[in-house]
Amino acid sequence: MLTAILALAAVALALSFVLAIAARVFAVDVDPRAEKIEEALPGANCGACGLPGCSELARRIAEGKADIDACPVGGAAVARAIAAIMGQDFAGGGVRRVAMVMCNGGDESARRRFWYNGVRDCNSAALLFGGDKSCAYGCLGLGTCAGVCPFGAIDMTGAGLAVVDPARCTGCTKCVDACPKGIIRMVPADRTIHILCSSHDKGAKTRKVCAVGCIGCMKCVKAAPEGAIAMDRNLAVVDYEAEIPPEIAGECPMKTIHVRKLDGLADLDAAAGGER
Ligand code: SF4
Ligand code: SF4
Repeated sequence: MLTAILALAAVALALSFVLAIAARVFAVDVDPRAEKIEEALPGANCGACGLPGCSELARRIAEGKADIDACPVGGAAVARAIAAIMGQDFAGGGVRRVAMVMCNGGDESARRRFWYNGVRDCNSAALLFGGDKSCAYGCLGLGTCAGVCPFGAIDMTGAGLAVVDPARCTGCTKCVDACPKGIIRMVPADRTIHILCSSHDKGAKTRKVCAVGCIGCMKCVKAAPEGAIAMDRNLAVVDYEAEIPPEIAGECPMKTIHVRKLDGLADLDAAAGGER
């Protein structure tokens, strides 16, 4: 009995010796800055930076293999904190960008050419003739974008339309990549004039399928400061660098132009001329 106990103790001692040696040989040096950077990152692990998670980004920043402002979710505040950890200056800090669904054609305004009853997913719906909306550029309303948003920033309206809440949107762009119709755009949060349509169809066709689509009449182009709104294949597109007065919304006969303040919660549409 005593011999067995002594033998076991000897084996345990030998194993612990081997483990101690292995721990030294295979030890990985962790840069203490990487730990601090990880603490400074939002911890969303959303993958918006293109890496599997925040710890991997932290490691790469500490190694100088990723930029200090590589986290789109953290924005300028996090970049500044990381710059301090790395002993660098960070002079950046541009305007926050948020996602916006460039379609306002809910069920009350936009026609459907058939009713899709398959899997509740926009990608699946789009496989069937591009989806059930008569407008080839319309929101399919099945919420695939809302499903991928790690921050719960996208709500589905009862009218089958996705709407981003700018207060919750971190600008990670996951929804942009997920939308099979390509109608989600990143826009500067300090801008107020938005044309909520993505249709490049000719005006007559758009008018037939949607009551709030851009018909390319160019009234807004003519009324806006020069170059502030331009036509792109039958669609009016805002230049977000330009200053455009809110009264422009009243020029649109289709009520396609919306006045929304994205860096606060106020929706200025009503102030610009009624319910839109
Ligand atoms: S709305 Fe889009 S960009 Fe904004 S946080 Fe959600 S997935 Fe990211
Ligand atoms: S915006 Fe795109 S992904 Fe979101 S509900 Fe509409 S079609 Fe689907």
